Amino acid sequence: MPRQAEQLRAIFDRLYAHFGPQGWWPGNSAFEVVVGAILTQNTNWKNVERAIANLKEAGLLAFSAMLALPPDLLAEYIRPAGYYRIKAQRLQNLLHMVAEEYGSLEDFLALPVGPLRERLLQVRGIGPETADAITLYAAEKPVFVVDAYTFRILLRHNLVDEDADYAGMQELFMDSLPPDTKLYGEYHALLVQLGKQFCKKTKPDCEHCPLRGL
Ligand code: SF4
Repeated sequence: MPRQAEQLRAIFDRLYAHFGPQGWWPGNSAFEVVVGAILTQNTNWKNVERAIANLKEAGLLAFSAMLALPPDLLAEYIRPAGYYRIKAQRLQNLLHMVAEEYGSLEDFLALPVGPLRERLLQVRGIGPETADAITLYAAEKPVFVVDAYTFRILLRHNLVDEDADYAGMQELFMDSLPPDTKLYGEYHALLVQLGKQFCKKTKPDCEHCPLRGL
């Protein structure tokens, strides 16, 4: 097994042993996961939770209810998530595409992984990280989600260069690990946990980190 693949497996084992299962994605339904994936762009999860609570309380956390809502009204409900006008428009872009082309979210999420990801990426405001979060956590298909934490950790462990791009990092994981939805879901969640608790942007706490010495 190439060195990188071995190291990526060792990292997963250490993280899983340290943090345990993460139970991602927080959300009770595929629809809630899709909404959360868009709302979490450029903000933290606490703010997303407040926006989702607003939607739930108003009975709007359902496909047809949200689809029927004018974007400026939707924006008010999701205000706590920040960039709320842009995010309302993104949600509406996605819901309209799904309704017009596939009829229901279930039918859309049932697409094979490649076409699903491609179609998501064609929606204005949906980039690779959001498309992959939806593909992995809502459609439950094996695609690896890369984010800023992933890059930072890989870079600090000499697994990528400073100029690594999203596709390259994703390929590194997917070439090294079996295509396993549960494994990819746990691994991404564990990296987020590691980035938040130990591998911080400034002053990483290597001394107490579960990856010390790797
Ligand atoms: S905190 Fe240090 S040991 Fe832990 S992942 Fe970051 S660079 Fe590695």
